[in-house]
Amino acid sequence: MRIDVITIFPGYLAPLREALLGRAIGAGLVDLAVHDLRSWTRDVHQAVDDSPYGGGPGMVMRPQVWGEALDAVLALDERPARIVVPTPAGRPFTQATAQAWTGEERLVFACGRYEGIDQRVVDDARRRDLPVDEVSIGDYVLVGGEVAVLVMVEAVVRLLPGVLGNPASAQQDSFSDGLLEGPAYTRPEVWRGLAVPEVLRSGNHAKIARWRRDRALERTAQRRPDLLAALPEDALDDADRAF
Ligand code: SAM
Repeated sequence: MRIDVITIFPGYLAPLREALLGRAIGAGLVDLAVHDLRSWTRDVHQAVDDSPYGGGPGMVMRPQVWGEALDAVLALDERPARIVVPTPAGRPFTQATAQAWTGEERLVFACGRYEGIDQRVVDDARRRDLPVDEVSIGDYVLVGGEVAVLVMVEAVVRLLPGVLGNPASAQQDSFSDGLLEGPAYTRPEVWRGLAVPEVLRSGNHAKIARWRRDRALERTAQRRPDLLAALPEDALDDADRAF
C-alpha cells in the first residue's frame, strides 16, 4: 500500500516511521510519503489560508493550494487512490473503516488546520469521480488533521498482511466480532494479593474460550451497550444468550 500525507507540519508525521509502522515501511509493505502543502503556494508568504466567506472567527484553507497539491500528489503514482479528509464533521472512522481501507492500493490524506479546508476541494474531487472520504476519529475537536492521520494509518497498517507478528491477535481484538475484548493477564499468578482467574490457569481450552466470551459480553454490556444493540441477529448463540 502507498500512503501519502499532505500537511503544513510534516514533522508531526514523524512517528509513522517508528516501531511497528516503521518496520512495515522498512519491509516494503508500506510506501510512505509526507508532503509539505506550502510547497504548492505561489506567494512570498506561502499563505495557505484566508478569511471565511460569510464572516466569523478563524481562517479557512485555500482551495487553489489544496487543488494543486492533490493533483500533483495523485500524479506521483499510477495506483488508484482514495482521498481521506479528516474532519470532526465527517463520518465516524471505525475498525470496519480500517478493515475496508486495507483493500486500497493507495491512501492520500489531506490534513486540515484552522477552520478546515474550503469545501470545494472535496466537491471538485468528487465531481471528478475520485473516491473521497471525510472522516472523524471521534466527537471532539483537534487542532489539525495530523493526529487523526496518525490514528487512522496505525489502525489500517497493523491490519495489512505481514505487519503483525501474529495475525490472530488482530482477529481477537475489540470490535473484530462486534464486542469489546475482555481482560488479559500475565505472570505472576498473584500480584499485590490479586490472583489471575482460576479458569485461565486450568488448561481447559473450551472453558477458557467460554470465559473469555462471557467477559467480552459483560464488558460490552457495561461499557458499550450500543455495540451489543448493533450486533446482527445471528451474532449471539444460545450460550451467549444464557450469559
Ligand atoms: N471548524 C471545524 C469543525 O467544527 O468541524 C473544526 C476544524 S479543526 C479546529 C481543524 C482540523 O483538525 C480539521 O480540519 C481536521 O483536519 C482536524 N480535526 C479536528 N478534529 C478532528 C476529528 N475529530 N477527527 C478528524 N479530524 C479532526
